[in-house]
Amino acid sequence: MLKYGQIQINNQLNFQKIKKKRKYYFSIHLSKMQSDDNQTVSSSSKNVVGRPESIVWDHFHKRSIDKSRGHFSATCHYCEKQYTRGKPDILEDHLTSECAFCPIEIRNEFLEIVANRTVENKKKTKKTKLDPKQSALSNFMESTKLTDTRRDAINSALGRFFVTCSIPFAVADHPFFIEFCKQLRPAYDPPCRTTISTNILHSEAAIITIKIQKELQSEENITIALDGWTDPGNRQLYNFILMTPNRHEYLWAIEDVSSESITGEFLANYIEKIINIIGQNKIAGLVTDGAGNCKVARKIIGEKYPRIITMWCIAHHINLISKDICRHQFAINTINKCQVLVTFFLRSHQGMSALRESINELKIKGGGIKTSTKTRWSTIYDCCESIVRLRSAFEDVSI
Ligand SMILES: [Zn+2]
Repeated sequence: MLKYGQIQINNQLNFQKIKKKRKYYFSIHLSKMQSDDNQTVSSSSKNVVGRPESIVWDHFHKRSIDKSRGHFSATCHYCEKQYTRGKPDILEDHLTSECAFCPIEIRNEFLEIVANRTVENKKKTKKTKLDPKQSALSNFMESTKLTDTRRDAINSALGRFFVTCSIPFAVADHPFFIEFCKQLRPAYDPPCRTTISTNILHSEAAIITIKIQKELQSEENITIALDGWTDPGNRQLYNFILMTPNRHEYLWAIEDVSSESITGEFLANYIEKIINIIGQNKIAGLVTDGAGNCKVARKIIGEKYPRIITMWCIAHHINLISKDICRHQFAINTINKCQVLVTFFLRSHQGMSALRESINELKIKGGGIKTSTKTRWSTIYDCCESIVRLRSAFEDVSI
């Protein structure tokens, strides 16, 4: 058991060491497992011949699946999220990018593992299996030698491009895209959409999270901000953002809380766990909107942690001030007049065409006429500003 303890410490220090000792760790781990009920995997499973078990299972409760030998369901020790069929890669991704309650040292350990994960192109592997004797066309070309490091670098760049430019992952499987890659670098087999949206995406996320954590280590007086919304799929989502005094923002987590009752206590409990992970002394503020449950959460956190200043989001205050200003008769008259102009040009194709032509001739920058909507309060300003900016164009059209 002494060696087990040593390995536990080493886990937090060096990923390479973990890799070498994984096999040994596995055998020790199995021998220490005890079954509490009949369904829990018993220590007899150490006799099963196969690949060594991933160390990620140390952080999940493992249950065998009926009629599916060798496969297990998994329940996270920290957030109790359940996976009907636990796969090491998916479980590692959960600890690094989904689990908000995973202890920071465990998270760091797996961030290193995920960040260094070699991305395999599943599509390519399948093809190779079908006809292993066939040589790839790229083998006959001089410029096609691609080292693993180079391939991983290209994969990373590709993943960043897809995500940051919001390119649909399905594009990766499009023949024209594959041809484009082949034209650029014949030896490069672009990954399929599944590989990009799973392995590459999580690997990149892990690299960025490691970077963020390093930056957060030197930060003080961090503010936690949170907000909830419903996505087009009708899922209730909450995000938790960390803001530093020099205005850097870091996304800590986006949680799908559709299955929960989002009470003030629930939110407070969640916020408290984040506070404990980052460290009480590093948190200076908590910002939420004016929703009832957020008010309760702010009150609970404020009473428990007097050091943390709890605030109602200033943008919501400005929204209320703007609403009050817009209720003034002068504002109502101005907005109504602007709306008459906007409505006319939106309904008249010829009018809009003449206005567009005039804007081009007069070389007015900043775009055309803008509409205002009640739910986007800044659009009232955009609408009035566009009318003032396009004054000469309106005069030109009216002649
Ligand atoms: Zn979890």
